[in-house]
Parts: sequence; structure tokens; C-alpha cells
Amino acid sequence: MTEQVVPVDERGWQELDDAQLERWLRETDPRLLQKLWEAADRTRRAYVGDEVHCRGLVELSSHCRRGCLYCGLAVSNRGLERYRMSDEDVLACAERMRRAGCGSIVLQGGEDPCLDTDRVSTLVRRIKTTTELAVTLSLGEREPEELWSWRQAGADRYLLRFETSEADLYAMLHPPFAPGALSRLALLEVLRRTGYEVGSGVMVGLPGQSYRSLVRDLRLFRELDLDMIGLGPFIPHPATPLGGLIPRAGDVPGDATMTCKLYALARLLCPFSNLPSTTALGTLDPAEGRELGLRRGANVLMPNFTPPAFRERYRIYPGKTDGSTIPLTREGLETWLGERGRKLGTGPGSRRRRG
Ligand code: SF4
Repeated sequence: MTEQVVPVDERGWQELDDAQLERWLRETDPRLLQKLWEAADRTRRAYVGDEVHCRGLVELSSHCRRGCLYCGLAVSNRGLERYRMSDEDVLACAERMRRAGCGSIVLQGGEDPCLDTDRVSTLVRRIKTTTELAVTLSLGEREPEELWSWRQAGADRYLLRFETSEADLYAMLHPPFAPGALSRLALLEVLRRTGYEVGSGVMVGLPGQSYRSLVRDLRLFRELDLDMIGLGPFIPHPATPLGGLIPRAGDVPGDATMTCKLYALARLLCPFSNLPSTTALGTLDPAEGRELGLRRGANVLMPNFTPPAFRERYRIYPGKTDGSTIPLTREGLETWLGERGRKLGTGPGSRRRRG
């Protein structure tokens, strides 16, 4: 392993080689890590400013046809009480987001066959005609024709995390629904060609994930020129095959510090990308997690507007925070952000580009 290198300027941070990136991922010295956090925060301020864009999250369906080995929504989890929200319930959430100053809505759900082309197209059109919110979809792996229809209906962005650049590891964790289906990386290309702003990302601390693999993930973020990068720790649900997994010595830890290292390095390598401080980070550290994310590269929050009766049943992983630490009113958000030296973003918060 090479000696730690602390670059003297922004360009030096952007040009870290693979060995140096790995060295930072393995770094444990708090004084050196402080240099990394400060560099990411400086870059965040220089490229995307102090505004924090709020994407209002609504978890519209907990049904899923897939059997991912760690996810509480997996079809094999028969103990989960499932739900689907009505369009009226979703539109009521959209109105609350609009009043709270969110520039966009994220419609998230499992791969629910009932969220079909027509149902989602109609919902997107209704949101676009009743609010000025940008619409982000996060509905899993879908057919290219379906993605195209939703884009025509007005959807602006699509989130599809590739989770890991290791194809074998991905296939082990996410058994494919249909043989011959397009890979997530191929779907990201489809999304780009279809005209979406494209979001993707990975989980940190997957079983069998190596530091080198995380370096490849970071390189892929830049190669894909992602508009949004979502990073979260691996937290398996206990009612899944990986629920009782005990980490082995030498595994990449899926803890808050490791997740923040990914935030910081992603910001340094992809300075213009939107980077949310995720709910899962808030779950690992309920008191400070999302604030740490904002101080270490993130510029987006995703307050959860799912009504509590549904939210309690959207249990992807245990201990998922209910969002109560992030206010759901404009005044509350402005105050919360102001106390942290940031301000509520205006407009849809699209990805900025150079120049
Ligand atoms: S990770 Fe996504 S696709 Fe897999 S079971 Fe969970 S909701 Fe479904």
C-alpha cells in the first residue's frame, strides 16, 4: 500500500490514482480524515454552493416481485404487511412537499407489477399539471418502452443504483427476475438516451465487497457522468437470507464513517453531481448522520413525506428512521438548514454543469 497523500489543491484531490483512493478508503487517522472531509466540503461549496435541494420522498408501494437477498420488501418476506397508495394519497403528499419548499418529488417503490405503464404515466401527468415539482422515479428495473412512456408523460429523473460494479456479487444479491433482462448498467444507458437525469449509486459494506471494488465504483460514477449519486450502508433485513450475516475480519465495514468516505470521494471526483445525505446514513447515526453527510460532500436531502401508516410498513431494512429528524415544513427546513450554515434550495435542483 502506498503512503497517504494529502493533495495541496483541488486538482490534486480530483487526480488521485486508484492506489491513493484505496488508501483513503482504508484511512483511520482522524486528523487525516479531517483533511478529506474539509476538501469535500470546500469542493461542494465551490461547485454546487450552500443550497440544499430537498426531494420529497413518497414510498408509494411496498409490493415487489424480486427476491433480493437482503431487502425487507423481497417477495419471500411473507411477514410484511404490504400496501399500495392511491393516486389521491400521492397527490396530497406532493402538495405538502410543494408547500414545504421541495423542488421535486421522488416516487419510490418495489418492482410492483401494478405500477404499470398507464398507472405511473397518469400519476406523473397529474403531478406535473397540479404542481411545478420535478418528478423522479425510483421503481426498479423496467422495460425500455416503459421508461420511455414515463419520460413522455413528464418524468424528469430516474434513480437506479447499480449497487456494486462487481457483476457476480450483484447477481448473487439480486437474482434476476427474468432471464436475459438488461443489466442495470445497460438500463442506465437506456435512461440517459431516453433523456432522463440519471441517478445511481452503491451500497457500502456488502458481503464480499473489497476496497478495490469500491474504487472501481467511484471510477464508474465519473465514467457514467451521473447526475445524482446515492450512497448508503448495507443494512440487511433480519427476515432475509442475509439477515443474520456476521461480518468477517477484513470486510469493508458498512458503517457511517466508511459511508462518509464514499460521500467525500464521490464529491471530489464528481464535483457537479447531486449527492443526497441518505436516510440509511441517518439510520446508522440518528443524531447526526444526515448532518455529517451534508458536511462531507452532500447537497441534497430527501425528507420522507410518506404518511406514517404506510411508512411504518416500508421496511427495507430494520431501524429505518421515520424521517422525524428532518422537518417537513418550509419554516422547519429553513431553520434546520440555517442552523447548519446552509440554505433551502429553490427550483427543481437539476444537476449543474461546468460553465
Ligand atoms: S432491493 Fe428493490 S428490487 Fe430488490 S427486493 Fe428490495 S425493493 Fe425489490
